[in-house]
Amino acid sequence: MKNASIATVSLSGALDEKLKAIAGAGFAAVEVFEADFLSFNGSPRDVGAMCADLGLKISAFQPFRDFEGMPEPQRARNFDRALRKFDLMRELGAELLLICSNVSPAALGGVDRAAEDFRALGRLAAERGLKVGFEALAWGRHIADYRDAWEVVRRANHPAVGLILDSFHVLARATPLEAIRAIPADRVFLVQLADAPRLDLDPLSWSRHFRCFPGQGELPVTEFMQAVAATGYSGALSLEIFNDQFRAGSAVRVARDGMRSLLALDDRLGVAPLPPRVATQGVAFVELAVDEPAAQDLGVLLRGLGFCRTGRHRSKAVDRWSQGSINVVVNCESDGFAHSHYITHGPGVCAIGVETADVNGTVTRAQSLGATSFRQSVAPGELEIPAIGGVGGSLLYFLERKGPLGEVWRREFSAIDEPPRRGLLSRVDHVAQSMPYDEMLSWLLFYESIFDLKREPQLDIADPAGLVQSQALAGADDSLRFVLNGSSATRTLSARFLSEFFGSGVQHVALATADIFAATAQMRANGLALLDIPANYYDDLEAKYGFEPTTIAAMRGHGILYDRNESGEFFHTYTHMFADRFFFEIVERRNYRGFGAVNAPIRLAAQTRELRPTAFLHL
Ligand code: MG
Ligand code: MG
Repeated sequence: MKNASIATVSLSGALDEKLKAIAGAGFAAVEVFEADFLSFNGSPRDVGAMCADLGLKISAFQPFRDFEGMPEPQRARNFDRALRKFDLMRELGAELLLICSNVSPAALGGVDRAAEDFRALGRLAAERGLKVGFEALAWGRHIADYRDAWEVVRRANHPAVGLILDSFHVLARATPLEAIRAIPADRVFLVQLADAPRLDLDPLSWSRHFRCFPGQGELPVTEFMQAVAATGYSGALSLEIFNDQFRAGSAVRVARDGMRSLLALDDRLGVAPLPPRVATQGVAFVELAVDEPAAQDLGVLLRGLGFCRTGRHRSKAVDRWSQGSINVVVNCESDGFAHSHYITHGPGVCAIGVETADVNGTVTRAQSLGATSFRQSVAPGELEIPAIGGVGGSLLYFLERKGPLGEVWRREFSAIDEPPRRGLLSRVDHVAQSMPYDEMLSWLLFYESIFDLKREPQLDIADPAGLVQSQALAGADDSLRFVLNGSSATRTLSARFLSEFFGSGVQHVALATADIFAATAQMRANGLALLDIPANYYDDLEAKYGFEPTTIAAMRGHGILYDRNESGEFFHTYTHMFADRFFFEIVERRNYRGFGAVNAPIRLAAQTRELRPTAFLHL
């Protein structure tokens, strides 16, 4: 993107590291934050040369505060201060100084006074080949609205004085967007973009800590950009994100996310359309990377759940287990991707196969959005299943019903057992992934920009050792659902998973049944033990809902949890953890769309009791 820019304040690290990450992600320009510059051990010329070497233009130098409408002697001092910044900017190679609206109690106000100050500063800037841009902060003392800032710029009436529009400041106050359309494009010197979740906070704290990339929050950034586009503005679009998580995370990942958010925004605006989002049609398979002993144990668990071993890969140590439309691939290969995943993470889910209506379209869109594609060498006659890198170094494979990819099981696997005609489990209901909280926004953007998935409301889940944020994403027909659990506490089960698993990954896979009572009775008969839920839970449930004694007895017996809302009911139960890492959930939905979050603390407490105590204590 030729006009993609990002502010150095958005990323973690030292200035040189930030610039490298920004250039590496494909940005054309960078806004240099004064604090990043001051803390860097290099001259303005060094920084300018570094930007030039990396192919980065400097879209702005910022911020310059509390300038307009001051009484003397502050006014004169402000002009001296500005001249020193101008000298610095010339060495740096920055043309535009960002001036944000005055918040000082000493500021006098008055549009004409401010315009007069800007005209005078514009003259000084122009003499040096520089420009100044005026941005209304949502909490500015006299100017907090872009329409007032524009009036100042208009009355300053100097070619070196222009307007800076920041989506956060405009949208945080719900300022009408219409007036943007009437501003001449050449009077807009810079457009800054930031989204944010809707929070009941004062604008200053909201802006300083919770900004995020367009598409990650809930503000109408697309509508803002439509108004900007109507002016004909074609200058830099600069991401300016103050966010504690971003500054705690990897600069490379955050820069790449920023570029992905701009590409997705251009797609939404129709400026640079990508191949359309392809409808997902379900989970084609879940692949587990294990060694031989773990494969034996996993086989016992899968048989207990009612799976049959239906296929053996023709050339690899890979088995297929099936039930209903569910396929579990157990990979024991001693080289290749699954093995390296096993070496890094231990036994666990290394890949998810997603069925889509159009594999080519899905992969092309994912690649256009900067996803890493993955290829693994295949034996002659074997299919190459297209894949991209997913959460925590796992893979997302893509399958479709038509063509050779629709025949993967028949072509690559020799049949062993006949699949049961009527499995008690029918399909994958959802896949739950755990990640550190600072990665959660990153994976949300990944899933939402690539796939046709929509966000469900975010939930806070009380883990015995802290809070976990849970965010579900679902396709239009619920055929594919991901639940992302982000934890910043260090002792939650999610966090413990992250440390045991050495990173983010799939923590559980939920399997749907039409009759959880029949399914769990069958599992019990197969010798499978389910997670133990305390008697107190059932006493409470009985008192609350007045279940039949036989129903509550069956629920007690199989550790079945329950939730009910306006629309329906939800029954679910869990297996014990496998290798202390992941587990299966069995769910029966009766016109219910949630995930039983109300029961998560019960489940988490039960799982926490089962953990190896030593492993838990030394966390
Ligand atoms: Mg700004
Ligand atoms: Mg679940």
